[in-house]
Amino acid sequence: MENPPHNKSQPHGAEHEHRPNSRTGTSSGTGAGRYAPSPSGDLHFGNLRTAVLAWLFARSTGRQFLMRVEDIDQQRSSMESAQRQLDDLAALGIEWDTKVIYQHDRYGAYEAALAKLPHYECYCSRKDIQEAARAPHAIPGQYSGTCRDLSDAEREEKRALLADTSRVPALRLRAEVSSFTVHDELLGEYTGDVDDMILRRGGNANQIGPLGSDWAYNLAVVVDDGDQGIDQVVRGDDLLSSAPRQGYLATLLGYDVPNYVHVPLVLNSAGQRLAKRDGAVTLREVLEDSSIESVIGQLASSLGYEGTTTAEGLKEAFDPVEFAATDAARSPYTWTNPS
Ligand SMILES: [Zn+2]
Repeated sequence: MENPPHNKSQPHGAEHEHRPNSRTGTSSGTGAGRYAPSPSGDLHFGNLRTAVLAWLFARSTGRQFLMRVEDIDQQRSSMESAQRQLDDLAALGIEWDTKVIYQHDRYGAYEAALAKLPHYECYCSRKDIQEAARAPHAIPGQYSGTCRDLSDAEREEKRALLADTSRVPALRLRAEVSSFTVHDELLGEYTGDVDDMILRRGGNANQIGPLGSDWAYNLAVVVDDGDQGIDQVVRGDDLLSSAPRQGYLATLLGYDVPNYVHVPLVLNSAGQRLAKRDGAVTLREVLEDSSIESVIGQLASSLGYEGTTTAEGLKEAFDPVEFAATDAARSPYTWTNPS
């Protein structure tokens, strides 16, 4: 699979100065994949499996592999957690090119991207949005556009009302489409809803983090992927429904839309998404009773590569086209404790 950039976008001409300034590794590949964990706790088997797949897809298609710490949620993220996650990934044998990017260093880039996007202030409370969603013709899960066409005088008034309670408005994209199609290597063409998504959250002005803005994940991830030259996004399929919104944002910002590879999640024995409450599921917990080889063995076997116990061995065995045709590429894997 050579992964030609496949997108429906019309890249705006002069935007290529956004292309990677970090493509200085030894690889002569034609693009980059990435893993982008949120540092709010230790990585568990499901996280590790997605990380391994992201690494395998990138390396087996001649790409660079980049690591990005998604610490945009300032309340829940910590540098200590980020370091533990990076140490765990390295312990598995995953390696990456160039230095790790942290979202907390990227706020200027998000601000610059915002300035290029058509957007408007939204004064709605959560309750307003819930009520609007119950109106006839409302589309479930989509913002109804209450604040899209307000007059300047109405905005003035609503802004003042929020300010009385120390609140600031959110900023929403003024979307010009209602759906967008992306390409997924495992699922084919995927079309999903696009609405006036939040670009920067509002809320209590006193509770906004020390970096001064509460950027929305959709904006941050698109700007980071675009600036890092990421053209292959491997991640859990719980994010599939976000891909059309992100693809559309990428297009508006003049980035190529990446190829997506949404992989099935790891489930617990009750069929729910694996989580920390499911017992000893983090790498550190599992390693109390078993070896790193046995963890890699279980990861490999969950991907259909029985008998491989090193990351290098897995990398030699992995073929993205072969993998895409297997059950492992389509069905969730149920986790059982290896010990
Ligand atoms: Zn609103």
